[in-house]
Amino acid sequence: MSRDVFVYMEQRDGKLGSVGYELLGEAVSLAQDLSQKVVAVILGDGIMNCAGELIYYGADEVLVVDDPMLKDYITEPYAKALTAILKERDAEIVLFGATSIGRDLAPRISARIKTGLTADCTELSIDPDTKLLMMTRPAFGGNLMAVILCADHRPQMGTVRPGVFKKPEFEERDAEIIKESFSVDPKKIRTRVIETITEVSEKVDLEGADIIVTGGRGVGGAEGFDVIRKFAKSLGAVVGSSRGAVEEGWIPHAHQVGQTGKSVSPRVYIACGVSGAVQHLAGMSSSETIIAINKDPNAMIFSIADYGIVGDLFKVLPVLEEELRNKLGIK
Ligand code: FAD
Repeated sequence: MSRDVFVYMEQRDGKLGSVGYELLGEAVSLAQDLSQKVVAVILGDGIMNCAGELIYYGADEVLVVDDPMLKDYITEPYAKALTAILKERDAEIVLFGATSIGRDLAPRISARIKTGLTADCTELSIDPDTKLLMMTRPAFGGNLMAVILCADHRPQMGTVRPGVFKKPEFEERDAEIIKESFSVDPKKIRTRVIETITEVSEKVDLEGADIIVTGGRGVGGAEGFDVIRKFAKSLGAVVGSSRGAVEEGWIPHAHQVGQTGKSVSPRVYIACGVSGAVQHLAGMSSSETIIAINKDPNAMIFSIADYGIVGDLFKVLPVLEEELRNKLGIK
């Protein structure tokens, strides 16, 4: 019979990613509702030292596959090792971070085990009657929330984006660390990592900013952010962004404000071409003064704005720049 809530603990260069800890916290409450255990799984090379800490964050058991072939993330050996564990243990639930690694690994495993996978869950709970995992995720462009069940196959699998759940509190307790064996013929692995190039992300101090100028999808492209940057610079402001703009690849995630970005409360928040989705508002609604510029008079952002300007941001910003400099006393 299938049992236990498994969490795949993603690591890069021997460092565990934050999303794994967030999932551990959620797994604890799911496992409690099922009266089952939380099992954390780590794959890598020289990663035994990462295992102990996971017990303090809620794992009842930590499975470690430590092998030189797992030094860098490569789909095939990782999928083989994890599939073997999940099959052998007949896992009830498996959770992955919706990171680039999790998004690559989880579907491979679900296909190999012949079970379902729900991507980008925003809520997880156990149905008190059926004991099935209820995986909630946005559907139809976020217009409705769908609850997805995997009733006939095991494990029930889902991915969750970083930042959706909170990292649990550290609590000293005892649990077991088990070293799992791994054997794969290296000749059967068709991919090799030749070089890893790390993107150097800029440090963006949104939390400490006095004024933030945020661009949304309404800026229309990466070059639209040049206009936002110029405007921000003239006010001594920090540039923020909506997730819409980050997902388009126009600006790095470090600038994102909102539920899965940063929470900010500056003196002045200027939202340009941002629709005002609830996940965005979650990160900036406590700003002292909110100014919104949007072409659409019905945009949600106007519902929380102190000052709303209906118009094209590219026409409004130059005029506003002059006005704000005078009003805010910025030389
Ligand atoms: P859109 O919704 O496409 O809005 C663009 C706006 O620009 C429109 O209102 C349009 O009228 C206006 N516009 C277009 N052209 C112009 C112009 N020339 N001048 C003026 N206005 C113009 N979103 C976040 O921002 N932060 C988060 O942290 C976040 N976390 C999320 C977490 C989850 C789990 C989920 C499901 C979603 C999350 N989102 C988050 C996404 C959120 O739901 C929205 O999809 C996103 O905020 C939309 O970004 P946007 O407002 O830039 O784009």
